[in-house]
Amino acid sequence: MQKNDLKALIGEIYENLLERIEAEEEPTKGQVVTYLQDAMEIVSDINDKDIDSIEHAKASFKNSYKELMKQSLNSYKSTNQKFGELAERNQEAIEKCSSQHIDIDSLSSMFDEIQSHMIEEVKKANEVIADLTQKVKILEETSNLDPLTKVFNRRALSAYLADVCSNKGVPYAMHVIMLDIDNFKTINDKYGHLTGDKILIFISNVLRKTLRDGDKIFRYGGEEFTVVINRNTDEQCELIANRLLNLVSSNKLIYMGERISVTASIGVTKLKSGDTPDSLLSRADKALYMSKRNGKNMVSKACE
Ligand code: GH3
Ligand code: MG
Ligand code: MG
Repeated sequence: MQKNDLKALIGEIYENLLERIEAEEEPTKGQVVTYLQDAMEIVSDINDKDIDSIEHAKASFKNSYKELMKQSLNSYKSTNQKFGELAERNQEAIEKCSSQHIDIDSLSSMFDEIQSHMIEEVKKANEVIADLTQKVKILEETSNLDPLTKVFNRRALSAYLADVCSNKGVPYAMHVIMLDIDNFKTINDKYGHLTGDKILIFISNVLRKTLRDGDKIFRYGGEEFTVVINRNTDEQCELIANRLLNLVSSNKLIYMGERISVTASIGVTKLKSGDTPDSLLSRADKALYMSKRNGKNMVSKACE
C-alpha cells in the first residue's frame, strides 16, 4: 500500500466519523470508541501484498447499511415511545369518564389534542422513513458492494477491469472465472424467491471461503458471479473452478425437509495483451456458454 493510499484512507475514516457524529443527536464517547475500534480492525486487516485491499477497506467504510439500520431503529423507538405517552394520556381521559360527572367539553378537547399529536407523530415518522429511503438509494447507487451478497458489484468490476486493461502489456497472470447458477429460474419457481436469494448468499460464501485474499469476487448480474484470480497458473485456475463446482453441488441446502439440488456452470479465460474489459468478459462468457450447451455443471476454458 502506498503512502498516498494510507493518507486517503485516514481521510476517509475521519470524514466517516464526522458524518456519524453528525447523524447522532447526542453522540457518546462509547460510540466514538467503538467506531475507532472498528476502523482499526479494518486497517489491520489490510494486506499490503494486495494492491486492491485499499479498495476493499473503502468499500467497508462505505457500507453504511448498519448505520442506517441503527438510525431507523432509533427513530422507530422514539415514535413508539411518543405513542406510548399518548396512549397513557388516552387512558387518563378514559378514566375521567368513569366518574359520575362527565365534562364533555374538556374531554373532547383532550381527545382533539391527543389526535393532533398522533397526526404530528405519524407525519414526522413518515418524513424520517422518506429520508432514510433516499439515503439507502444513494448508498446503493454509489456503493461498490452488492447489498444482497456483500461481494463487489458490476460497477466495481467495470472499474477494476478498466484499470487492469489500461496497463500496457500484461504485468502478471490474471484469470477470469464466470460462474452462472444452473436452472435458477426453476429453483425460484419451485422454492420461492427468498430461497433463491439465500442460494445467492450461499454461493458468494462458497466463493469467499475457497478463494485467496488477492482474488476478487463480483456479482456480475442476477445469478452470475465473476471471479478474478491473480498470479496463478492455468492448471491451478482450472482446479479452483472445479473445486467451486464440487462445493456448490455438494451443498446441504434444505427446503421443507427436501434437499435443494444446486449446480453451476463455469467459463474460464486468461487476460491477454490488448484485451479490453469487453473482450475479456465476452471470452469468459463464451466459455460459460459452452459449459451450458454441453450439459451444465462443468468448467470450460475459452479456446481462443
Ligand atoms: P441456465 O441454467 O441456462 O443459466 O438457466 P437459468 O434459469 O439459471 O437462467 P435464466 O436466465 O433463465 O434465469 C435466471 C433467473 O435468475 C431469473 C431471475 O428471476 C433470477 N434472478 C435474478 N436475480 C435474482 C435475485 O436477486 N434473486 C433471486 N431469487 N432470483 C434472481
Ligand atoms: Mg444467467
Ligand atoms: Mg443461470
